[in-house]
Amino acid sequence: MTATRTAVIAGAGIGGLTAALSLARAGLQVIILEQAERLEETGAGIQLSPNASRVLLDLGLRERLRAVAVAPTALRVLRARDGHEILRMPLAQVAERCGAPYWVIHRADLQAALLEAVQANPNIKLVLGTRVDRFAVNADGITVQGLYALPNAKVPARVDTEGSLLIGADGIWSAVRAQLGDKSRPRFASRVAWRALVPTEMAAKPAREPMVNLWLGRRSHLVHYPVAGGAQINVVAITEDRWDAPGWSTRSMPAEVLARYPLGAWSRHARDLLGIPDHWLKWALHERAPLSGWGDGPVTLLGDAAHPVLPFLAQGAALAIEDAAVLAAEITAHPDNLVQGLRAYETRRRGRTTRVQQAARQTGRIYHRGADAFLRDTVMRVLGGERLLQRYDWIYNWRVD
Ligand SMILES: Cc1cc2nc3c(=O)[nH]c(=O)nc-3n(C[C@H](O)[C@H](O)[C@H](O)COP(=O)(O)OP(=O)(O)OC[C@H]3O[C@@H](n4cnc5c(N)ncnc54)[C@H](O)[C@@H]3O)c2cc1C
Repeated sequence: MTATRTAVIAGAGIGGLTAALSLARAGLQVIILEQAERLEETGAGIQLSPNASRVLLDLGLRERLRAVAVAPTALRVLRARDGHEILRMPLAQVAERCGAPYWVIHRADLQAALLEAVQANPNIKLVLGTRVDRFAVNADGITVQGLYALPNAKVPARVDTEGSLLIGADGIWSAVRAQLGDKSRPRFASRVAWRALVPTEMAAKPAREPMVNLWLGRRSHLVHYPVAGGAQINVVAITEDRWDAPGWSTRSMPAEVLARYPLGAWSRHARDLLGIPDHWLKWALHERAPLSGWGDGPVTLLGDAAHPVLPFLAQGAALAIEDAAVLAAEITAHPDNLVQGLRAYETRRRGRTTRVQQAARQTGRIYHRGADAFLRDTVMRVLGGERLLQRYDWIYNWRVD
């Protein structure tokens, strides 16, 4: 394989796919190595705030995404006990202020749009079923050692890929990050997210409206919003819990979820929605402390591999998308020294990603208040939706330049 101005990307998640499109546009050849044999997103939704949607529009995905996304008019904060509306944040105004949409979308729809664009690009090669195991830096760039499972073989075969750069977009359990020197493991955040999709026609009318609904309880919360052009409702229930395992796809039964959202503490309306799915997927939340340096020589990290974010501000994928845009901008700005481009990218990203990581952790603490939840709800009501939303302008109004 050619080693001239080729970026090898480990991982074809939202970060890896967006980086591939951005780097190809910056004039690089791109090879993506993905461990999964097929790219399929498990059912769930994702919020795409203007800081992220702006990058995707710039990559030419506007029409493709608009057809499947929902643009919520507001984020409605509801009291768990009785469904009383505490406040409403006008998301439509944020989109207008930032000049880019605030969308909610099914992850599979986002992934399909990115994948189609990747597959239509002659400068990007996607290699599935290959797990990045190690890398070695050499005079010309980098050799990335991948492992792929041959049918009926006991031991995976080894395949080497040459490139000028390696971008570790291989998620929170990143092998690239480990080889860069961070031997620590992600820390369990003592919270678990249960996720399910509900056919819209089975849900009560308020849940069908184009809004993000955030129910705040004691040590637990619930988020739901329509996706798939309004055909389904994405439901995410997050509680404090001890169950800890990596991955997205452990199945869980409705009783397990409902037991954590008991009557009295949770209104009948919330529980009715939680009772619809016949199964859930659960995901233990993990976090890592911010890294002081993400890269070395021709190797860097991107997305959750570099800076996993707890989901309380819905910014993990958004930051990965931002990373991709800044990485491509710095590669363009350093055409004769790609390694310098990587260092410039890391320098530009460190402060913002750390700040968002911290803000998300802080928001999690607020969402999961215990006995003083009443105080939280009162303060939020007094502040009001518009003022609270303006506090996040620094997140939403981000631009690559
Ligand atoms: C409940 C919940 C809700 C969320 N909601 C939102 C939201 O609304 N908005 C938002 O912006 N973010 C949200 N997030 C965060 C978001 O899901 C992640 O931050 C985002 O998916 C990270 O993307 P990534 O591409 O960096 O990593 P990943 O999505 O983890 O992708 C990594 C890819 O690398 C592959 N891989 C791993 N190891 C290797 C290897 N060694 N070799 C090759 N391939 C490998 C994996 O198979 C995978 O395809 C949420 C998270 C949770 C838990």
